[in-house]
Amino acid sequence: MRESATSGYPIADFHCDVLWKLLKHEELSFDDRSESQIDVTPGRLHASQAILQTFAVFISPRMTSQAAVWKSVDLFYEHVLSNPKMHLIRTAADIDYAVHHGQTGALLSLEGVDGLYGDFSMLRLLYHLGLRAVGLTWNHANWAADGVLEPRQGGLTARGAQFVDECERLGIILDVSHLTEQGFWELADRVKRPFIASHSNAKSLCPHARNLADDQIKALIAIDGRIGITYVPYFVKEDGNATITDVLRHIEHVAALGGAKQLMLGSDFDGIEQYVQSLRHPADVPKLVEAMLRVFPEQVVTDITSGNAIRYLKEQLPTA
Ligand SMILES: [Zn+2]
Repeated sequence: MRESATSGYPIADFHCDVLWKLLKHEELSFDDRSESQIDVTPGRLHASQAILQTFAVFISPRMTSQAAVWKSVDLFYEHVLSNPKMHLIRTAADIDYAVHHGQTGALLSLEGVDGLYGDFSMLRLLYHLGLRAVGLTWNHANWAADGVLEPRQGGLTARGAQFVDECERLGIILDVSHLTEQGFWELADRVKRPFIASHSNAKSLCPHARNLADDQIKALIAIDGRIGITYVPYFVKEDGNATITDVLRHIEHVAALGGAKQLMLGSDFDGIEQYVQSLRHPADVPKLVEAMLRVFPEQVVTDITSGNAIRYLKEQLPTA
């Protein structure tokens, strides 16, 4: 019954950290037998009708090395793309191919450029391997910029600003989810293309450093960027005791600011140890869809669950 209620709502999710878990725990695989240890599995993606899942390369601040980045990309190829239900998304046409063949599109992103050590040739090689979205930082400072928890709250470095330009030249999407507010506005002033916050909520509802202030949300809406609502319980509700209804409030807030066409989803599954109640993995997302259907028209729900993300990607990804 649940399936039929939500069958018209395929899901696009712009952030998960399963590659990080595979990097940390060599014994794990991207398969349904690992579902007690990993959130994002092929079976759960299928159950949620996932048409797009972004896989982030995240390297711990304690182990930043170029080798760890390459190892993570290798895991993406060996574990994720080797699955016949997954299809690498490099171009707009790849999305249509995946949808047509009933596959889940797999987009590769980089969460924090620490491991590149300012090496732009590495960025270009990663682009050739399919990298299509980059966040400059995780929570701390690196050679490119300051992350949201860095005490000095600085913006981009000179090298970081050049790196932003190189991403734009290549056609790599910029992701500001972990950037300081200073960095956000410096990046906004610099770029010509719309950028995204792949996994952040509204600060006015939950005052966490990882969330976006209303003027940031409005700026993303104005440039037709994207805001991926995330299920990290502490970004949903201050005490971390969050429900699906609390997630819905963030969606309603961004929509009320005019962002119904800019909202998308950015779960952060496999990057979290605590969960929003009843929202523990991709196969639970239809429950959020049901909650959305109680307050939004169907077209708005279709946009938020995948339409907005897919429209953005088709505009931003290279054509060939
Ligand atoms: Zn993150």
